Amino acid sequence: MSVKVRFAPSPTGKLHVGNVRTALVNWLFAKGQGGSFVLRIDDTDLARSTAAFEQGIEDDLAWLGLTWDERYNQSKRFDRYEEAAERLKASGRLYPAYETAEELDRRRKVQLSRGLPPIYDRAALDLTDAQKAAYEAEGRRPHWRFKLEGKRVSWEDLARGHAEVDTASMSDPVLIREDGLFLYTLPSVVDDIDMAITHIIRGEDHVTNTGAQIEIFEALGAPVPGFAHMPLLVGADGAALSKRLGSLSISEMRDQGYEPIAITSHLGRIGTSDPLEVAASVQALGESFAFSKMGRSPARYDTADLDRLNAQALHALSYEAARPRLAAVNADLGETFWDVVRPNLNKFADVVEMAKIVKGPITPVIEDAAFAETALGLLPDTIDETAWSAWTGAVKAETGAKGKALFMPLRLALTGQAHGPDMAALAPLIGRETIVRRLRGETA
Ligand code: GLU
Repeated sequence: MSVKVRFAPSPTGKLHVGNVRTALVNWLFAKGQGGSFVLRIDDTDLARSTAAFEQGIEDDLAWLGLTWDERYNQSKRFDRYEEAAERLKASGRLYPAYETAEELDRRRKVQLSRGLPPIYDRAALDLTDAQKAAYEAEGRRPHWRFKLEGKRVSWEDLARGHAEVDTASMSDPVLIREDGLFLYTLPSVVDDIDMAITHIIRGEDHVTNTGAQIEIFEALGAPVPGFAHMPLLVGADGAALSKRLGSLSISEMRDQGYEPIAITSHLGRIGTSDPLEVAASVQALGESFAFSKMGRSPARYDTADLDRLNAQALHALSYEAARPRLAAVNADLGETFWDVVRPNLNKFADVVEMAKIVKGPITPVIEDAAFAETALGLLPDTIDETAWSAWTGAVKAETGAKGKALFMPLRLALTGQAHGPDMAALAPLIGRETIVRRLRGETA
């Protein structure tokens, strides 16, 4: 049986690191085993879903390299959900209830005050046809609840091991609201059955849902798929990220200049026993992925780690791969230039400043004009890879300056900056003529 997984985001917001991690782990698990990945837009809530968010989800996944093999919109499948609902009604598993939110709230408070668990008391099951008709005549519309069996539902979770949920301690879930809206629970199961999903991989906040959904799979006479519930993301401080996720959208990270492979390597490896290193590709990441490497403790999302992986990704980027991107920012100064500057990049856009050092114009920083003049007098005729060490050797012999006092004024004069790529490699790219002008303090 080949693996088939799905990612089912709601187009009611932007993708953030939390839901992208879910998408990614699904993708890695499937692709690592030659399986397929379904993108299923969970847009049953027509009022809150937008085409712009849907497009954003596709753009973000495509940018990250998470391609999908099949794609669906739940809003186009209402007939399937109706049909399943009718079957559940016919078998007595889906029943109408007429309580208002206030009535339910009042009952919960009474239960709590008596020390009872605040679960739905199933009063609706005792309604006579006449009582139901009276409610309808009053203008009340029913919502529909799934009648749980009230048992220990268990499964072997790929991430958590043996897992159990006692559905006797849960309220019968509402599957259809009074306005006719299908909540996520039933459409998700219907689609997982129709699309032959083999594994449902999602955050551990869904564990309780899984108990109810397994009962729905069974009530619809379908085989129950495998499940994996991943530990949730926490920030560098160990606190849950859920409240801060809104500010960690993928589109913002793209704007901030993060490389997709840095994001996928980070999100794919935190919370696993694999070292936090950048992968060669998202495919390679999939080949090394295994749930057995995932621990039970939360996955720590730390921007400092992401930054490190981002730099690593750039340091490993070949000239061939970098070339179109260099051209796009007008910084394609050849392979040697790329090789000289890439070890210094944190973000790709840093290359623009570095290209300016070579192409100019930059404003030299000269704190000691006499020192610069002496250095100018000692500048070799040919600036090749050996020139820098010969030149600095001569300047040292002449002025007695050494270490930082020797190198920093020369770097500041030649580049206008205190930090940057290796000067020995940079000098031939800048060229003798420009070096001379900069040592004279001219903008060049
Ligand atoms: N749209 C649901 C969510 O984002 C999907 C959950 C699931 O994967 O089953 O929470």
